[in-house]
Amino acid sequence: MKKNYKKKILIVGAGLAGATIARILSEQNFSVRIIEKRDHIAGNLFDFINQNNERIHKYGPHLLHCNKDSVALKFLSRFTSWTNYEHKVRALLSDGRTTPLPINQVTLEDIFLKKFSSEKEVKNFLDSIRNRKLNPKNTDEFFEANVGNILADIFFRPYTEKMWGVKPEKLSISIGSRIPIRTNSDDRYFNDNFQALPKYGYTKMIEKMLDHKNIDLRLQTNFKIEMLSNYDHSFLCIPIDKFYNYEYGTLPYRSIIFEERKEITNDFPSSVINFTDKSPYTRKTQWDLLPNSEKSSSKYKTITYEKPCSMNDNPGEYYYPIQTLRSKNIYEKYKKLSQKEQQITFCGRTGLYKYIDMIPAVTIHLKIARDFLKKYDIN
Ligand SMILES: Cc1cc2nc3c(=O)[nH]c(=O)nc-3n(C[C@H](O)[C@H](O)[C@H](O)COP(=O)(O)OP(=O)(O)OC[C@H]3O[C@@H](n4cnc5c(N)ncnc54)[C@H](O)[C@@H]3O)c2cc1C
Repeated sequence: MKKNYKKKILIVGAGLAGATIARILSEQNFSVRIIEKRDHIAGNLFDFINQNNERIHKYGPHLLHCNKDSVALKFLSRFTSWTNYEHKVRALLSDGRTTPLPINQVTLEDIFLKKFSSEKEVKNFLDSIRNRKLNPKNTDEFFEANVGNILADIFFRPYTEKMWGVKPEKLSISIGSRIPIRTNSDDRYFNDNFQALPKYGYTKMIEKMLDHKNIDLRLQTNFKIEMLSNYDHSFLCIPIDKFYNYEYGTLPYRSIIFEERKEITNDFPSSVINFTDKSPYTRKTQWDLLPNSEKSSSKYKTITYEKPCSMNDNPGEYYYPIQTLRSKNIYEKYKKLSQKEQQITFCGRTGLYKYIDMIPAVTIHLKIARDFLKKYDIN
């Protein structure tokens, strides 16, 4: 085994990606400094309890879902216990009713004012309203082929346009094909057999991941290029295009403005309500309906409205990489450049220019950490 004792590692970004690498390397006796530009850990998973005792996810609701045998879940379970929670979402219709999303049997009954007595009937009905002959080449055509124009116009076209800031026909098919359609009455948002929230929240979970004698955390510390020379290796969860001074152009992202409001309201029929119409908002969340939150202790409930926007309207807040052929080509050039780096590894959503859910984020970064350890003959 090569000597790794107290080799110095820099990790930029105390989100899930950075915390995963920090934990694995610290346990192998590397000396890890993790810096974070914000005044809190946990990246976009950050949650906190407000004055009303509600647990708020500052950067939008984060729902954990995966296969119960997932290695990433096993890793995270070292740092938290779980509160089971099967997430449900309803869409607000123009007449004030709400209906389940993803589209299922009940959604079709609500929209077409019909009753179905079997899944086969539902499937036949869906087949009768969708364009089965179309071989979709973009997201708009995917909607038409899979649910037909009536449902596409109610649930998907305006929503997708405000979410991504471009018409669905400009989006690659991979965006639209993320949306499941069900022919039964299962109204859960995810199919996975493990769905939960950390019992004491995501921030606590990340805090425990970073609680190791070999990890030194510095908040409110922005990355500077001069830092690299002080470390044997650096893992950078930062925008890769910015690091290379936008040499090959800017990688596009969509951002979101989170508007927190205090409202006196009856409980929503589900913790999240989607706005699928042309209004600027995509969804609203009632936090005290999530089971790892207390009920609001005042007559006001905290409701967060999400408004997608361009990066110009929310500078520095990179949320969703906009995957187009052009952006993929640009990213490939940066990736090639980064592969020449001996002492730097790009990580996280912005380093890899990839939207990643939490469980895939852990899986990917466990692998990055373990591949790195192999250089030191540590398995
Ligand atoms: C709105 C939204 C909702 C989501 N909902 C879900 C969900 O329901 N379920 C799910 O599984 N996943 C969800 N995700 C995905 C989840 O947020 C990611 O998997 C996770 O954040 C990935 O972690 P990360 O460490 O790559 O990025 P981040 O959490 O963004 O962490 C990167 C950190 O690096 C810091 N940083 C950046 N630049 C610098 C710098 N120059 N110097 C110092 N620090 C820096 C940032 O401040 C940030 O804290 C959602 C994502 C978004 C945007």
